[in-house]
Amino acid sequence: MPDILSDEQRQFLQLLRMPVPGDPPPELAQAKTTATAADAAANRSVPAPSASESVPTPLVETSVPRPEPLPLPAEEGAPVGGGAAPATALSSAAVTPVPVNGTRSPPTAEPLPPPPVPAAAQASVATVERQRITRIATLDWRDLSNMVSTCQACPLGETRKHAVFGAGNPHGSWLFVGEAPGAEEDRRGEAFVGRAGQLLDNMLQAMGLSRDKDAYIANILKCRPPNNRDPLGPEVQACTPYLQRQIALLQPRVIVALGRFAAQGLLQVDTPLSQLRGTTQRYQGIPLIVTYHPAYLLRNPIDKRKVWEDLKRALGVFAELQK
Ligand code: URA
Repeated sequence: MPDILSDEQRQFLQLLRMPVPGDPPPELAQAKTTATAADAAANRSVPAPSASESVPTPLVETSVPRPEPLPLPAEEGAPVGGGAAPATALSSAAVTPVPVNGTRSPPTAEPLPPPPVPAAAQASVATVERQRITRIATLDWRDLSNMVSTCQACPLGETRKHAVFGAGNPHGSWLFVGEAPGAEEDRRGEAFVGRAGQLLDNMLQAMGLSRDKDAYIANILKCRPPNNRDPLGPEVQACTPYLQRQIALLQPRVIVALGRFAAQGLLQVDTPLSQLRGTTQRYQGIPLIVTYHPAYLLRNPIDKRKVWEDLKRALGVFAELQK
């Protein structure tokens, strides 16, 4: 056993509960292992969509005017949304011993359970969270936006560059809800400004709408998940009160949920997107239409026709409301 171990060798030994030369006694080593595994879990990533995705043609159909397709500029980082491949679960079965001097894959392990939190501490955390949610429900647009911009309710507050509140016209009749900011949105602090945003603008134009006049655009998560990974349950839970308050203030006539996370988050269900599409759902009485996320559409342009069916449904519902 060499005296100087690499981080990977050290971590591997710790995973196997073997003493590591030069390390503190076992009870301290245990705490360090927990932190290492938790860090790995928090930083897991998913493969980014290919940069060679074809440039989408505009959505085709008849009754609404169809604009020329907008050029799609290259974007730093990959767009999010549309149900990226699930993140790789850490599994103890996946730990592969490798000779000390050999090359290896990074060891992976099931995270150790966190140390028990005393009941009193749990209760006070829950109380503070309830108070936060109650307060959010009373805020006006400006205070809500300010609160989002400094939010630290989940760990994404530490990794984001900018929180992204939304974009468009808050007095518009339409609300489009996406998943989470991507790299460009995080950099600029504005919603849907990358490639997926360009495609969303095309979709709006195809419907005869514009984000400046008719629509507001927001996300389920206000902060970018690292490497555009899927939103995690606790992140969605922490962020949803902001969107709920936005909707209460916006009072849109129709909501379009873009992708699985938006649909499931708004409707508080885990029904697959395929079953939510093609029907008119309701969010607190407001008609809600579910369709694919534009980032999914960039990867799967064949499904544009289905999206157009969904958008036509949304237009039909809106027209009915105008009667
Ligand atoms: N994808 C989203 O869901 N939202 C954005 O703001 C950008 C990309």
